[in-house]
Amino acid sequence: MSHSRSFWSLLVILTIGAIVLFAYFGKQLSGEPALVKIDNFQLGTLIEIQAWDNSLTETEVKAAIQGAFGAISDVENTMSWNLPGSAVSRINEAAGIEPVEVAHSVIAVLSTAREVSELSGGAFDVTIGSVLRLWGFSTPGPKAPPSPADLAEALDRLDYTAVELTATAPTVYLRHVGMQMDLGGIAKGFAIDRASEKLKEAGVSNFIVNAGGDMFVSGNRNNGTSWRIGVRDPLGGDSLLCKLLISGCAVVTSGNYERFFDYNGKRYHHIINPKTGYPSVGCSSVTIITSRAEFADAVATAVFVLGPERGLDLIERLEGVEGLIVSSGDERRLPSSGFGQFLHGGSLDE
Ligand code: FAD
Ligand code: MG
Repeated sequence: MSHSRSFWSLLVILTIGAIVLFAYFGKQLSGEPALVKIDNFQLGTLIEIQAWDNSLTETEVKAAIQGAFGAISDVENTMSWNLPGSAVSRINEAAGIEPVEVAHSVIAVLSTAREVSELSGGAFDVTIGSVLRLWGFSTPGPKAPPSPADLAEALDRLDYTAVELTATAPTVYLRHVGMQMDLGGIAKGFAIDRASEKLKEAGVSNFIVNAGGDMFVSGNRNNGTSWRIGVRDPLGGDSLLCKLLISGCAVVTSGNYERFFDYNGKRYHHIINPKTGYPSVGCSSVTIITSRAEFADAVATAVFVLGPERGLDLIERLEGVEGLIVSSGDERRLPSSGFGQFLHGGSLDE
């Protein structure tokens, strides 16, 4: 009796062991390298990194991903406007008083920001902070539109040309008291680029760094086919606007559905027109594809503020930049002339 019981126990243990070993080694025998996926909550959003590489072990890929998350933390600690002691907090505290010493990365981001401000005639402006604080999109609790008087006062302190960069020191100075810098429209893209560089430095050539829908895509999927990226439909739900086949570039979307509140039956979102101080009208979403996520991030926000016609004009003027705008109200889809090359199936209806 006891002999036959031990025989059956042994058989059960061996069977479970065989299943576990088959699951573990089966993947490797099939020739498909393991895709490693890790999520982390940073920059106020969920960041997902998936990566694989034939020349690295799974442990090495995991370590590379952790290094990439470390690079994103560095960006957050430097460029967050609500972390005391961050470079941006120090710059804001010293507005109108004195220049502040910063890391070279801050100068790099602010130089790109300045370029996009000039390209867009001020539609993109990192000194939007004083206006954004009045709207309070990132703070908990009930919200209401600010008073016209408060808005007018905050708008007085909005001026990207009053951001002084001294690359040699390196220092940043906001020339007027009360000016407030906010890098929410560009630093996420910069963080995606830094994470991508970290992965490449560690020898990983196939990956997606996805920060809440904004991403950099490199190489291929582990089955050898191209990565497929879904662009969310601004009208909501889980439906997609289109599917993209891309590699070696960034895809970034600015949408009026990301952060908003409703007040007296009207929706107010977080992409602000620096000319009026109110949420920008005209676009529901703007998707930009180009080689750097930092530039894509700022251009997407700028195009959103410019509106469909002037926004499309800006995209067409920029070399190596393609985009898709969805206008608000009539929800027209306006692709740039070269956007079709990235579409899965070649057309927007696929
Ligand atoms: P985008 O369209 O790319 O940018 C919109 C954002 O840009 C706005 O939210 C505003 O910040 C800014 N903006 C608005 N109008 C303009 C304009 N005309 N010109 C220039 N910029 C404009 N979220 C949290 O909830 N908690 C956090 O602690 C937090 N920390 C963050 C730290 C960092 C370093 C970064 C980059 C983001 C952080 N966020 C945080 C998220 C942040 O508040 C924004 O919501 C997010 O960056 C918006 O990204 P988006 O892609 O949705 O929109
Ligand atoms: Mg942006």
